[in-house]
Amino acid sequence: MAILVCGGAGYIGSHYVRALRERGETPVVLDNLLSGHAASVPADVCLHTGDMRDPALLESVFSRHAVDAVVHFAASSLVGESMERPLEYFHNNVHGMQVLLEAMVRHRVDKIVFSSTASVYGEPERIPIVEDSPLRPASPYGESKLFMERMTAWAGKAHGIRSVILRYFNVAGAWPGGEIGEDHQPESHLIPLVLQVPLGRRRCVTIFGDDWPTPDGTCIRDYLHVMDLVDAHVRAVEYLHGGGSSLVCNLGNGTGFSVRQIVDAASRVTGMPVAVEVGPRRAGDPACLVASAERARQALGWQARAGIEDILASAWAWHQAHPHGFGGRVRR
Ligand code: UDP
Repeated sequence: MAILVCGGAGYIGSHYVRALRERGETPVVLDNLLSGHAASVPADVCLHTGDMRDPALLESVFSRHAVDAVVHFAASSLVGESMERPLEYFHNNVHGMQVLLEAMVRHRVDKIVFSSTASVYGEPERIPIVEDSPLRPASPYGESKLFMERMTAWAGKAHGIRSVILRYFNVAGAWPGGEIGEDHQPESHLIPLVLQVPLGRRRCVTIFGDDWPTPDGTCIRDYLHVMDLVDAHVRAVEYLHGGGSSLVCNLGNGTGFSVRQIVDAASRVTGMPVAVEVGPRRAGDPACLVASAERARQALGWQARAGIEDILASAWAWHQAHPHGFGGRVRR
């Protein structure tokens, strides 16, 4: 039986695919390669290149493989971009989910794990954030993920699909050997941008606002190692295999770091100074997002292990070995 990994050539999906392969399982990847990289998918893993919104493509993938469960990473995922191009986000994320769920219903696949986000909470009332907090997305990205969650739940009621919805906080870091890591074009995430300064690829990093209601005035986020995130997905699929009922879980470390604290930690880990400049706030950003991951611990036996310096050190190893990311690399 195969696990269909939608978005398996993307940053997080490719780490999950590699972990599945190491466990002797059979991942099948579907990715449109708009932001993913074919070179991040091992050559012995079946890669279907195309768009999830294409029902004919999904029909052929589900017909060709005995899909037992779907793990769905494929989505547009930038808060700032979603504020400028909201309709694209609804089309890609929400319509993509609809086409996927329709194919699952047709082929009687009844298990899905999918990537949701802390952005479904908007500006939280309380920290740490628990799953039952009010859901008030402040961006089309967060709104699109909330729609995806709700569609999955309704499809579950009508068609018996069981789901684990994982609300990620901020993800960073790389595969321990440094073979794969984060490579977005253009890059917009804080940790890779900060590391571009010691790499000599950027003069400084811009802090998006230092007038937030936080101790040092910069935004606070909860950073999670991509390998801890992968572990949560492995457990989520096992949970569904074991007959677990549908579940929504936060995934985070439970500790917040401000943008300035990330810059300082990066400077410690790399042993080099990281120059900053302060710019305006970015639209759609909440001041502070920190998870309570208690439910994931109880339901999945999961807990984040890596701290912020481990995350930065693994990202630094990847970027040093691959300063141009996957550029020019082929599958092997
Ligand atoms: N950020 C920043 N400068 C940058 C990129 C990000 O100050 O060049 C801040 C951003 O406002 C947020 C945090 O860093 O508070 C993490 O942003 P990122 O884009 O990495 O992830 P997001 O929180 O949007 O998922």
